[in-house]
Amino acid sequence: MPIDRRYPGKVVIKNIGTLVSGDWDKGILEADTIVVDNGYISQIGKQEKLDLTAADHEIDVDGQVVCPGFIDPHVHNTVDDYAPMTQTVNWMECYLWYGITTILSEGEQGPGYPRFFDDPIGAKATAIAAKRIFDNFRPGGFLKFHGGALVLVHGLKEEDFKEMSEAGVWLVAEIGGGGVYLPEEACPMIEWAKKYGFKISTHIGPASIPGSSPVFADIALAHNPHKYAHLNGGSTAAPWADIQRILDERDQSSYVEFVAVGNQKMADKIAAYMRDKGQLNKIVFGSDTPTGQGAMPNCIQRMVMRMAAFDDIPPAQAIAMGTGNTADLFGLNTGKIEVGREADILAIDSSHDAVGKDALEAIKLDDTFGVSMVMVDGQVCSVKGRDGRPTRRFISIDGEKVFHDNINEYLFGPYFPGYLR
Ligand SMILES: [Zn+2]
Repeated sequence: MPIDRRYPGKVVIKNIGTLVSGDWDKGILEADTIVVDNGYISQIGKQEKLDLTAADHEIDVDGQVVCPGFIDPHVHNTVDDYAPMTQTVNWMECYLWYGITTILSEGEQGPGYPRFFDDPIGAKATAIAAKRIFDNFRPGGFLKFHGGALVLVHGLKEEDFKEMSEAGVWLVAEIGGGGVYLPEEACPMIEWAKKYGFKISTHIGPASIPGSSPVFADIALAHNPHKYAHLNGGSTAAPWADIQRILDERDQSSYVEFVAVGNQKMADKIAAYMRDKGQLNKIVFGSDTPTGQGAMPNCIQRMVMRMAAFDDIPPAQAIAMGTGNTADLFGLNTGKIEVGREADILAIDSSHDAVGKDALEAIKLDDTFGVSMVMVDGQVCSVKGRDGRPTRRFISIDGEKVFHDNINEYLFGPYFPGYLR
């Protein structure tokens, strides 16, 4: 049974300056208060109109912007919180403390992993093991990590997809990122995967590592994936002619991903093209880390700032590209401030002495914002990123201000350990 860290009780989050829904269509909500019951959002509205009686805890965010926790749908992890390529330890924890509350694997990789040896038994076993490890392990105590993305390799059969599905596996790692990718080989496997409810992602662009493959319009469109991974390059972009064909000819319900380590100029060009087609709600942000380029705890936030500052996307909609759009793509019950959703909630703010007076103004200016509260399932698990931007304002829990002003704690110190447990 997957672990469940929901806080059993009622928590009120009040004095919200601006409430960003994470929902592309709804944008900013007319509300200053959220009530969380047993880890789920139960009420949203103006404080005077809500039932705040019998609250176990009260969190005052002092007029800050509140939004859903960010989702990173593109990482290449090992089976633990360690990245051997960059010798990075506890990178998942750092992502959590900076406001990424959910991560999805795009294919586990590490020295000797079966995916690199075209080993169907090993690839299947890795997917099942990683899925189940992260059901039992929440990095930093709270991060929702969806591990176990299957890499398609020669020899996988329909009954393997059935078996993996029954074991809980539901993600196919970016096709072309390693293993089988030619349509005549991959498409039968994709059909089996879809039959058993898997979400499909396709790597777009030149090969990125030995064993990965160049995937341009013909092959990608034949895969017909749910997500066109790193359409802005992972890390190198495809030619515009291929990208344009994908944008024109893809199933229009599919999603397009921009990654933080990709080509920003291409992301801007794609966004402009999708704006003309009324398709901006089909963009999601990922990181494609910590693969060769290191950990980047503010990867999704960086994309939010870039797209809002340089592509004239309203900050609330840019936040939706890193939260609600991704939740829609994967059918996750997080990523939006909405009654019934898991209470994965951030308070964010501009830095003191910054030009922008709140996080949304900072985003519009491409100024990095800080995180003064990371809540997962109704529990506060961090009040800062490690070396995140300091915030202008802080949260108070039950009347007590909670923040780090000690340089050792701030740069190296502990995350905020489950105040509401
Ligand atoms: Zn890729």
